[in-house]
Amino acid sequence: MEKVVIVGTGCAGLTAAIYTGRASLSPLVLQGKQPGGQLTTTTAVENFPGFPEGVDGPDLIMRMQAQAEKFGARFQFGTLEEFEPGDRNHRVKIDGDWIDTETLIVASGAAARWLDLPDEKKLIGHGLTSCATCDGAFYRDVPVCVIGGGDSACEEATFLTRFASKVYLIHRRDSLRASKIMADRALSNPKVEVLWNRKPVEYLVDNEGHVRGIVLEDTQNGARSELEVKCVFVAIGHAPNTAPFRGKLDTDENGYLIQHDGTKTNVAGVYAAGDVADHVYRQAITAAGQGCAAAIEAERFLAARE
Ligand code: NAP
Repeated sequence: MEKVVIVGTGCAGLTAAIYTGRASLSPLVLQGKQPGGQLTTTTAVENFPGFPEGVDGPDLIMRMQAQAEKFGARFQFGTLEEFEPGDRNHRVKIDGDWIDTETLIVASGAAARWLDLPDEKKLIGHGLTSCATCDGAFYRDVPVCVIGGGDSACEEATFLTRFASKVYLIHRRDSLRASKIMADRALSNPKVEVLWNRKPVEYLVDNEGHVRGIVLEDTQNGARSELEVKCVFVAIGHAPNTAPFRGKLDTDENGYLIQHDGTKTNVAGVYAAGDVADHVYRQAITAAGQGCAAAIEAERFLAARE
């Protein structure tokens, strides 16, 4: 019987591991398909407090993991297949084996959706990203583009005008999905130009393996054109990693876990932290903050039980 099982090794899960480890709860931390979470896909993190010179995403994650291990956190690779809530204890099935635990911290994150174009995976971090807040400042006085027509795309396009010389907003239809206020903000910005009815079909890459542009197809007449940009920001939505919890923990209409009174879920002893529940801020530091809060909740829950 485990006291604390933590699902996920992004900022939220690792911070929960540091806190529960330091509370002598010897947490078991499950590393899924993307150990380290979304930060491992960014090259430099410039907005995490305490690193004025910036820090590599993977480096930050490795430091957090080392800190958690120092306090006795145990790490295990595996995919969480099933979750069974119980009245007193809960069960998770990892690669075919069941583990019983008194508390569970779900920090399984969310994955940005991508376009599924050729070479996409290896271009991420080389002129292809899904996070304007993380990478926008690297593209000053150069043209960039944002793919998508929702609130995220409009928000990112508006944000990027602080740095870029020009921001192309590329949408596959002739009207935006975004809320009026977000759409108005983007459309009224003189640096934003919307390319309507265009769908990305291919990334253009320079000799150094960095994105230099994108090929677009007109959805109405099929004509193809090349757009020269230094970075492509994909903003076509995120999907929370909540499949094993559906129907067992409360989720909203987009599948994100619902938090009650901080990081509590609807099941006593089960907590949600980071991007698996937060589709608003989605920052490393806010995920870490929630991981800390969930750990303190789990610790208090166990103490009250004893
Ligand atoms: P979203 O609302 O699902 O919008 C995704 C956009 O990407 C849509 O315009 C969609 O086109 C486009 N898209 C999807 N797949 C595509 C593909 N394969 N190729 C090209 N385009 C594709 O996602 P989101 O903008 O991330 O927003 C998610 C939720 O978070 C929403 O509820 C939103 O309101 C909320 N949010 C709120 C704020 C805020 O209020 N500050 C900021 C960001 C997000 P179609 O329109 O043609 O389907």
